[in-house]
Amino acid sequence: MCKGKVYLVGAGPGNPELLTVKAHRLLERADLVLHDDLVTPAILAISGPHAQICNVGKRCGAKAVTQAEINTRMIEGARQGLEVVRLKGGDASIFGRLAEELDALAAAAVPFEVIPGVTAGIAAAAMLCVSLTDRRKSSRVVIVSGHQAHSGEKPEKTDWRAVASQDATLVIYMPGRDFGALRSELLSAGLPLDMPAVIVSRATMPDQRHIRTTLGLIDQLPRLEPPATLLIGWSLDRVGRGDGGDGASLALQQAELLLSSL
Ligand code: SAH
Repeated sequence: MCKGKVYLVGAGPGNPELLTVKAHRLLERADLVLHDDLVTPAILAISGPHAQICNVGKRCGAKAVTQAEINTRMIEGARQGLEVVRLKGGDASIFGRLAEELDALAAAAVPFEVIPGVTAGIAAAAMLCVSLTDRRKSSRVVIVSGHQAHSGEKPEKTDWRAVASQDATLVIYMPGRDFGALRSELLSAGLPLDMPAVIVSRATMPDQRHIRTTLGLIDQLPRLEPPATLLIGWSLDRVGRGDGGDGASLALQQAELLLSSL
């Protein structure tokens, strides 16, 4: 009989104000917190003084932590009677390898619960004061990974033709660096050059920035601080052109002007 329990908790996009009340309460009383890189120090600071906190995103102590090790630590913690909080950025069910962890916990007969969090794309839209669906412009929201993601053993390649559509808002997580490739994929999938696109970096954090451009010019976007999410679709057309930060997108605005004058 396992006395402890594992809570798989979404930590939201970074700002502690956006934690759920339940996530906050669980974090305050957790014995063991296993968190990903995306979780901010301000959120970890909520945990109590007795909690053992471990970054399993990249490194814990000196060596890299594998998914199998994370599973083992959760299971062993619960079997020792601990309340384990497995804390993931945003919502645990979006590009968070939640399914694999749930399988491992179920196979080990460890009790668990999933607590939702505000996912990055939803937070980014809110920061831009944008509605992801809009009766006039967008009837669908597509949450998709921008680059070839490796979940477990199986490499996944995004099928852009299947997701690109004039009446969808694309919310592209992990957009990577090569926006040139993404641009050609989306254009050849039939999206127009002038479709609005906004990159949002570090949404909800004090140093949040965004740049508004068009699909035709996403390859000109300057590199912003990670993590960043790219949104593309007509629902974004209410976002002001250019830069929501320190003006680094001037060249981009000039390129856009040039393009629109052709
Ligand atoms: N489970 C997370 C996503 C993990 S994948 C969630 O639901 O939000 C990691 C990607 O999330 C990053 O590459 C980036 O695209 C996005 N992301 C996470 N936090 C972000 C933030 N504060 N601002 C912008 N994008 C963010």
